[in-house]
Amino acid sequence: MKLKVVARNSNLSLKQVEEVFNELNKKLEYEIIPLLSYGDKHKEISLMDNIPEDFFTKELDEALLNDEADIAIHSAKDLPFPLPNGLDLIALTKGKTQLDALLSRNNLSLMQLPPNARIGLSSELRKKNLLSKRKDLEIVSIRGTIEERLKIIEDGYVDAIIVAACALERLGLSDRITDILPFETHPLQGKLAVVAKSNRPELRKLFFDIDERKFYGKVYLVGAGPGEVHLLTIKAKECLHYADVILYDDLINPEILEFASKNSTKIYVGKRNGKHSIEQEEINKMLYKFALEGKNVARLKGGDPLVFGRAQEEINYLLERFVSVEIINGISAAFSSAATLGISLTNREYGSRIIFESGHIKGKEHKDSISSYIFYMGASSKKEIYEKLKKELSDNTLCAIVQNASLPEERYVITNLKNLPVVDLQSPVIIIAGDVLKHSIKQNRILYTGINPFETLSKIPGVIVYYPLIKREKITPLPEIDFKNYEVIIFTSQFAVDVFTDYYGVHMDKKVYAIGERTKEKLIERGYKSIILPLKYDSYALYDLLMANEYGKPILYPCSNKTSNSLLSMENITPLVVYRTVETKQKLLDLTLFDGIYFASVSTVNAFMKMYKEIPSHFIIYVGGIKTYETLVSFGLENRTIILEKNIQSEG
Ligand code: SAH
Repeated sequence: MKLKVVARNSNLSLKQVEEVFNELNKKLEYEIIPLLSYGDKHKEISLMDNIPEDFFTKELDEALLNDEADIAIHSAKDLPFPLPNGLDLIALTKGKTQLDALLSRNNLSLMQLPPNARIGLSSELRKKNLLSKRKDLEIVSIRGTIEERLKIIEDGYVDAIIVAACALERLGLSDRITDILPFETHPLQGKLAVVAKSNRPELRKLFFDIDERKFYGKVYLVGAGPGEVHLLTIKAKECLHYADVILYDDLINPEILEFASKNSTKIYVGKRNGKHSIEQEEINKMLYKFALEGKNVARLKGGDPLVFGRAQEEINYLLERFVSVEIINGISAAFSSAATLGISLTNREYGSRIIFESGHIKGKEHKDSISSYIFYMGASSKKEIYEKLKKELSDNTLCAIVQNASLPEERYVITNLKNLPVVDLQSPVIIIAGDVLKHSIKQNRILYTGINPFETLSKIPGVIVYYPLIKREKITPLPEIDFKNYEVIIFTSQFAVDVFTDYYGVHMDKKVYAIGERTKEKLIERGYKSIILPLKYDSYALYDLLMANEYGKPILYPCSNKTSNSLLSMENITPLVVYRTVETKQKLLDLTLFDGIYFASVSTVNAFMKMYKEIPSHFIIYVGGIKTYETLVSFGLENRTIILEKNIQSEG
């Protein structure tokens, strides 16, 4: 198949297309459909005015939506946020330098430019940066292709221009650069974006190679609850256990931080205790930086993160940069305060409405208006709710109806208030009206069919919907073991450590090998002293290590009935099945509500196929290992199945 690629009709843009295809580790045939965007056609509009977000992308994205092309290739920084409905970013390339370059007449650097020199540029950020170094400079807004912009220096219209260094590099014009500027630039400058229709998982797979988001970590906004450690949710506890970095606020009970791994980095970013206060912008940047480094980040906030927690700023900052964000609710202080008082916050006798309000009345951190109207039990009175809200809100105020929130079968509709009466979602629903909904953004929802999403996953972009198709069962009683016969024990899962040590106790005289930091921590928690880990956390690396260190020595391997990896092929290894992986019963879901699925093991694929017979064609499929991949290949699904790098062994 020959791919149809839309790109803007300029030399630079065509070079960008070439760059994307050159970076792939396979040859793909393509034809370019060059288009002019609104921005290309209207050169009289300054980019320093308020231009629409899709100034350079609209026509290209429309071509995708109309099936006139398969993919569009954009400069990532030109993408609107969010992308138009129905489209998805399928790859974000590592790209080229993010820095800005100065090009001047007579090869002068920024500091050498004569007083009051005229500088041509095209963004407010560049202007601000420049004036911070040289107040005297005269700024002129310029437009056009790189070639056109170079020409205005030669023509004498300006003394110098500032453009993205990556553009010059792509055009082979780097030798014209007279100074590289140390300024902060747009976070996506230099990167290229491949956009396609959301229902084309095979395209996502084709470009997965060059999608650098697979190396990104994820940021979890985690509610720590009101304080008491037992009021933390199970999910928050799991998340903290697996987080690489934790950024925490004031009022976080230190006991909660003890759920974190010993190896995690914990950073206080609160504003109390007389410590220097960290600006929100700085916190955003830290979250982004850690995510780029591939770290899983827990941003721990008191109570619930979505109540007076400045969560929206962090969510938007990250999503705009294509870092996935997940929210783990906590119990908000209002609820535990009511518990302290032994009162119900609602009461038939005294009223039907609760108001949560910011007490920062002096500083006015928040605009003084109602941010969200929330209705419980409104499923059968949508019309009456509309009539009531109409008195306070305009008909086109956004309104959401959320059904079964937090469950795999959750669904919602966001519409204008005036449509509320006709929305067909039945109880249980929550109705929310207010401008807060302007920020609502749909991330991809990926079904997770394994047991512990935090344990196995590396980086699935989007939101994980917990839908386990297998569970673990301890085996009791276990067989009698003559431990004299073994010199070495190996563990590849935390669960095996638990079941094994619960039953047989701790065997301090054995040499112990394990895969994964968390397995090691678990062993230490159980009383083992020194544990040997391979450099890479997979069974092949452990295999090599055992071959080198323990060749021929008898090794005991507590594992599950479904464990199948290279270790079992070693003659000196005796598997000891200490737990079983069995299928669970799950509800049948409407699969149109999801964008993809993660299979943790062969048994999860089989369980899914038994229930659904096939995998919907719009699904992207992620798997944790080669065996699972091969199973999907046998179903003819290799063109949309992606193998993810994992933290540890396959489950099951
Ligand atoms: N996201 C938090 C609120 C953050 S604003 C939540 O959902 O609870 C911080 C304010 O929360 C504090 O100034 C205080 O008013 C309140 N708060 C937090 N913990 C509290 C507690 N244990 N008891 C009473 N109020 C508390």
